[in-house]
Amino acid sequence: MERILLVEDDAIIASGLVYALEQAGYGVVHAKDIKSARDETEVFDLAILDVGLPDGTGFDLVEGLKGKGTSIIFLTAVDDEGNIIKAFEGGAEDYVTKPFRLGELMARVKAVLRRRGGQVDSMNLGQVTVNPVEGKAYIGTVPLELTALEYRLLLTFTNNKNQILAREQILSQIWDSAGIFVEDNTLTVYIKRLRDKLGTAANIETVRGMGYRANDN
Ligand code: CA
Repeated sequence: MERILLVEDDAIIASGLVYALEQAGYGVVHAKDIKSARDETEVFDLAILDVGLPDGTGFDLVEGLKGKGTSIIFLTAVDDEGNIIKAFEGGAEDYVTKPFRLGELMARVKAVLRRRGGQVDSMNLGQVTVNPVEGKAYIGTVPLELTALEYRLLLTFTNNKNQILAREQILSQIWDSAGIFVEDNTLTVYIKRLRDKLGTAANIETVRGMGYRANDN
């Protein structure tokens, strides 16, 4: 049984979520603040973290959870791009904006857990190997140090290599949610960072006026 840690101080939201997750067959532990979340010694497959908590923010828990290999979905109170970027930089796999529909959150939970245990074989882009089971990428046998967002970007390019991808297509893949406003230069910055990390191992080409194309070299 996959184990989920839910950190949420709103008792009504929490009890609804615990019920729904248990009905779906997951084992759930609910913590109402940072302190009780830290007291949990168990290793979880997934943590669902509220951002606004009585004794801090959900971001305070990211490092400890990531250190144990736990995937993270954030519950953000507002549709706040700054918070979302911070969450992805911290290594979160996904986020859901409150108020959310239960069905939407359950779909995200399933998707994140499926990616963890996915059956997709590794894929290549140039000299880069992407392993979706591990959520990691390598040049040869050397792991690439990527943020969650850079990884999703790389995965998008690898899944669509040798094709031109419009910026909107890329954004819809990496943000995985409709209706989020993302400034165009945010994507430009992430692509630049990814290119810097890939070096000459893979080539992400700018196609003027159209978007980007990742080539196998
Ligand atoms: Ca809260």
